[in-house]
Amino acid sequence: MHIKNIFKTKSLHVPQPSDHFNLQKYFTFYSIVFFVLFTALLGVVFITHEKKILINSAISAANEFALQLNYRVQEEGAVPIIMTLNSLPIERSRDYEKLDKIINEYLSEFPDVVKIKIFDRTRRTVYSTESEIIGTVNTHDQLKMALTGQTASVLTRRMRPMTIASAESGKKHEVDILEIYLPIYKSKKNTELQKNVIGAFVVYKDVSKVMYEAKKGGYTISLLFIISMSILFLIWQMIIRKADRIIKLKNSKIKKYNRELEEAQQKITESIDEVIKNESFHVRYMNEHLKKCWESKKCSKKDCPSYESSDLRCWQVAGTFCGGEAQGVFAQKYGDCKLCDVFQHALSNRINKIGESFNNMMALLQSKHLELQEANKKLNILIDIDPLTQIANRRSFQHRIENTHLLTLRYNHPYSIIICDIDNFKLYNDTYGHQQGDYVLISVANTMKSSLRRTDEIFRWGGEEFIVILPEQNHADALKVAENLRASVHNLGIKHQKSDLRIVTISCGVASFYPWKTKDIGWEYVVKQADDALYKAKLGKKNCVYSAAPI
Ligand code: GH3
Ligand code: MG
Ligand code: MG
Repeated sequence: MHIKNIFKTKSLHVPQPSDHFNLQKYFTFYSIVFFVLFTALLGVVFITHEKKILINSAISAANEFALQLNYRVQEEGAVPIIMTLNSLPIERSRDYEKLDKIINEYLSEFPDVVKIKIFDRTRRTVYSTESEIIGTVNTHDQLKMALTGQTASVLTRRMRPMTIASAESGKKHEVDILEIYLPIYKSKKNTELQKNVIGAFVVYKDVSKVMYEAKKGGYTISLLFIISMSILFLIWQMIIRKADRIIKLKNSKIKKYNRELEEAQQKITESIDEVIKNESFHVRYMNEHLKKCWESKKCSKKDCPSYESSDLRCWQVAGTFCGGEAQGVFAQKYGDCKLCDVFQHALSNRINKIGESFNNMMALLQSKHLELQEANKKLNILIDIDPLTQIANRRSFQHRIENTHLLTLRYNHPYSIIICDIDNFKLYNDTYGHQQGDYVLISVANTMKSSLRRTDEIFRWGGEEFIVILPEQNHADALKVAENLRASVHNLGIKHQKSDLRIVTISCGVASFYPWKTKDIGWEYVVKQADDALYKAKLGKKNCVYSAAPI
């Protein structure tokens, strides 16, 4: 019986109820976080980009404005004025007013320019459209840059009275001011030369409107994104809900199967354990190294089934099947194995436990099967053997004689029968006791058996009678054999006080069957003829052979 160890398992995993993963919850949380962050990022990127464009265009516009102003100042001969302004402190002179007039003209042309200041090389304010104190020193880095011939800008957001843009309200509100710092050159030529810089303009430009537009664009983009993503999100949610429902349904089915499996496993394990507990098996090892595996859980012998296999279960090696072969009978050690950590680890899930029960069951079955085979063999032998004399019994004789008779008829060959009976055996028993009588039966049977040829067979016919089948032998030969048998017992010389010859003797009746003479008689008739001959021998002096005529 070769049964593969189909449950030699380690990593089979059955989903447990606790493994349930809430798909919907998971996606809702993470998707919202992702969505918010992405929208914020998108808005910021857009606004930053727009701001950059705005500042660049405002700077170039202011640059243009300053260049014209610069040009006009030079045209109108205002450079000396600025040069004059340099020698502070100054009074509001006629020249100053001339400059003021020029600048105010420009301011009316560019309403978004809310203020202009002019600084000299020492960073002092020499002119301002507002009534600030002339002479205030500005330390902005942007001004420093303008005084070295560069254009610089800074965007500020401040609270200021709207006296310039919307004077009628008079309210304060936030405006975005772009301060653009531009150098003022002594002459129109060589504007690149730093030594030509005699001062710097600061143009304060109100960029609130464009900033507002930029922000509006950013918000619009973000809003559109939010709407489209929300729709997408809703669809997504619907799909997830559906998937979640399917998962829950499957999960409840798994739970149900799990419960059934658990019950089945419980029943199997209990019943197998019960059988093992009530049985007393011998521990057998097909491989001697297995004992070492058992002890160390890791064998170093290369011919061991558990070599290089750290997860091989000890009881599996010793107990059930390995590579389709039973490695031993385990039951006696099963109790110990159950305590072993390798065992416990391997049986961490239900499938493995059922597999183990199955293995145990198969091992038990195989063990029982072998036992049964052994017992059957013995039984088959015993059933045909006489327990006292250890020669074949009457049941066996019946089977053999039927065969012999049929073969004789088929091949037209003769066979003979001899029936032998111990003389005065009752008297022997009476004299020496029944047990002694048994010894005589044994020695007479052995002697007769050893004096026969291997092709002849002797059987205990009953009591102190024996019957011999002589296949292929005619009557004359059979008489010789019977005489041999009689002589062999006689020669034993077993003492028998109550017998005429004072020793144990036998009498024999011989009958032979010739199929070509009479076909329609059975073996029973041949036996009867031999028995009749024996009877005649008993009527005579005994210790003799009597012949029935060949049939
Ligand atoms: P005869 O010479 O006419 O055959 O006389 P006998 O006494 O041998 O024959 P009988 O049939 O009168 O007695 C047979 C005896 O064999 C009776 C019985 O006690 C004895 N016997 C039969 N079977 C056994 C046995 O198994 N063991 C022993 N010790 N005696 C047995
Ligand atoms: Mg008898
Ligand atoms: Mg007798």
